Amino acid sequence: MSKRPSPISATVDFDADGVQHGFLKLPISNDESAWGAVMIPVTVVKNGEGPSALLTGGNHGDEYEGITALLKLANTLKAEDVHGRVIIVPMMNVPAAKVGRRTSPMDGGNLNRSFPGNPDGTVTEQIADYFTRYMVPLVDVVLDLHSGGRTLDIIPFAASHLLDDKDQQRQALEGAKAFGAPTAMMMFELDAARLFDTAVESQGKIFVATELGGGGTTTPERMEIAERGVRNFLIHYGLVDGELAGPSQPQVYVDMPDASCYVQSEHTGLLELTVTLGEMVEKGEVLARVYDMTRTGAMPVEYHAQRSGVLVARRFPSLVNMGDTIAVIAEVVDSLD
Ligand SMILES: [Zn+2]
Repeated sequence: MSKRPSPISATVDFDADGVQHGFLKLPISNDESAWGAVMIPVTVVKNGEGPSALLTGGNHGDEYEGITALLKLANTLKAEDVHGRVIIVPMMNVPAAKVGRRTSPMDGGNLNRSFPGNPDGTVTEQIADYFTRYMVPLVDVVLDLHSGGRTLDIIPFAASHLLDDKDQQRQALEGAKAFGAPTAMMMFELDAARLFDTAVESQGKIFVATELGGGGTTTPERMEIAERGVRNFLIHYGLVDGELAGPSQPQVYVDMPDASCYVQSEHTGLLELTVTLGEMVEKGEVLARVYDMTRTGAMPVEYHAQRSGVLVARRFPSLVNMGDTIAVIAEVVDSLD
């Protein structure tokens, strides 16, 4: 099935040496702008032949660690520092980022559930399609920077996935370790089919994902991890020179083997987490309580750990609804190989 060409056009030349700041332009026509465009900022830094990397943030618009780190990198990376080509897109879903939301206000689209995308679809699906068919084929390695956004807080980690191609899996795992976050993870996705991750991996390219905090803000500690990690990623894959910088403590390896890692609420109310992010829990231990806010005198519902491990993610807001992920517990392992 052949798709028509993408309506998106780039104002930069991906083959030109030097530093270019421009846009990926997607034509739109609405009440605010009859002949308008969604303008996705892009920076290309190229210096001769060599590997090509795509660095992306703002796939979800409220995940600020990656957005901030990539805006800073785009301001500072010089062509003479690069071997090959680095393409930086700090806000893939720029309509969502502009309003500080996970999803797009234009169509409600969650970009990371819209891949491989569709050139005839919604704005969000058109963005996904452009990355799948035009950006990913340009590069060898992709680093997609996520965090928890407004509704989750997540320990800083870089992750790769189990893949059928074991060489591809190994190269991605090495990149995830080299990122140098306090934790490296082999990640199980609840819904892999429509992720950017899968669109990249299915083209045989190396994909590293991160989660770098959350809560809809940044902290100095997490920004340091994000910026160090982006630099380590570029060093590891040969795009810039330098020494890899590791975390201050030995890196912890964690595995998320199946869906039992995710604890989801079956109640609506006020959430009290009883375990701190990064803390170890035993199977059966109380993780959280949900209180009925409609009356006093009602005992809270207790949620227990379905497995032993480390609390790697938690719901950030105290108000919880049925179906919300309350906690994610990953297994600490000696090795991810
Ligand atoms: Zn995300």
